[in-house]
Amino acid sequence: MECLFCAIVNKKIPSKIVYEDNICVVVLDIAPASLGHMLVIPRKHYETSFHIPDDEYEHIMNVARKAAMVVMKVNKCLGVNIIDRIGEYAGQKFPHATIHVIPRYKDDKIMIGWQPKKVDEGILDGLASKFKPIFSSLNIKVKKKVVEVKKSKEEIKVKKKDKKEIIYLKPKIPKP
Ligand SMILES: [Zn+2]
Repeated sequence: MECLFCAIVNKKIPSKIVYEDNICVVVLDIAPASLGHMLVIPRKHYETSFHIPDDEYEHIMNVARKAAMVVMKVNKCLGVNIIDRIGEYAGQKFPHATIHVIPRYKDDKIMIGWQPKKVDEGILDGLASKFKPIFSSLNIKVKKKVVEVKKSKEEIKVKKKDKKEIIYLKPKIPKP
């Protein structure tokens, strides 16, 4: 049987597509956690996000962020969770990487949270010393500095094209 998400992106089964490009497709979830819940689905069949090339993943996450801005503007929701579930233990249901964009509303009864636990500082130091050299070896580089936050007006300085878009969407994040 063909993968459900491959069938969606290849339009073999109908879905509510709201955006698509050569890398990904955005659809409305047919069983949403809340109204406006969207899925950002890579066109190619990648089992998890770990299998997606960096540049494609960057694009997909950027599309997810834009989807969050769109639903915020249209549905006037109060916040948005962007969720990537990697592995069944993390709640991944299908073996095709998918990013969930879940708008949040007052008293929406959606549970995304955890109880903070106590941990010895020595254990954290031990972990940090194991993580650090691996991060260094990954050679993660910032390609270019695109975003600067101006403290006075919290204005986002971006390229002209992006600026227009962000001003249009006016993402205002309310506080509880
Ligand atoms: Zn697939």
